[in-house]
Amino acid sequence: MTQISGEKLISFMQEQAAHITFLTGAGVSTPSGIPDYRSLTGVYHGLEEPEYLLSATCLKYEPEKFYAFVKHLYHPDAKPNIIHEKIAEYCRQGSALVTQNIDGLHQRAVTPQMVAFHGNLSDVYCQKCQAAVPVADYLTSDVHANCGGRLRPNIILYEEGLPLQRIIVAEKMVAQAQLLVVVGTSLKVYPFAGLLDAKKLDSQVVVINREAPSRPLAADVLEYYGSAEEIFKEL
Ligand SMILES: [Zn+2]
Repeated sequence: MTQISGEKLISFMQEQAAHITFLTGAGVSTPSGIPDYRSLTGVYHGLEEPEYLLSATCLKYEPEKFYAFVKHLYHPDAKPNIIHEKIAEYCRQGSALVTQNIDGLHQRAVTPQMVAFHGNLSDVYCQKCQAAVPVADYLTSDVHANCGGRLRPNIILYEEGLPLQRIIVAEKMVAQAQLLVVVGTSLKVYPFAGLLDAKKLDSQVVVINREAPSRPLAADVLEYYGSAEEIFKEL
C-alpha cells in the first residue's frame, strides 16, 4: 500500500472526472450529523446487537422492537454535505456511485448513475398490500392505516439477500471505472467489500479514510488518510 498526497489525489480525480466510480460508506454521512448505527445500540438497547435489531427475524417476530430501533436511524433534518454534492456533480459528468449508506443523502443531492446497495430508508412500503407509504407516516406508526399491515423500509436487513440485478449493476459500475475512489468505509461488509474484485486490471484504486481498513488492501491501492471533506472541498 502506498500513501498519496492530498494534492496528487485531487489532480487524479480531476483528470478522471468522467471515469470514476465512487464507493461510499458511513464516514461520508458523519459530517451531516448521522452517526454510524452501531454506535446507537449502547444508548437505546444495551443488550441487543444491531445485527439482531436490523434482522428479518426481529422484524417478523418482534416488530415493535425493530420499529423502536429503526426509527432512530432517521434524521429528517440532515442535509447532504460537500462530499455528497461533489460526487453528484461528478456523476453528472459520467462518473458513477455505489453507496452502502441507507440514509438517502446521495439521492437528496440528486445523484444520477448511482446504486443504493443496501436500499434507502426513505422508501417505505406495506408488507401486506405492497403500497408505498410516505416516511412521515412510518415515523408516526408502523401499521398501515389503509390495511392494517406492517410497514417496513426498503433496506436490506441482516439475513436478507441482495437483489441479483443490483449486484450486477454495481459490478458493471466498478468494471467501467478508470479510477475507484473509496470514501468513508473500512470495507468490512460483504458483498459490498467484494465489489472491488470486479475492477479492470489497469484501473487505480484510492481509499480515503480516517483510519486504516481492517482488510489488507492490494499492493497497488493508494491510500489517503485524513478528512474527506477537505479533499472534496478542493475539487
Ligand atoms: Zn397496506
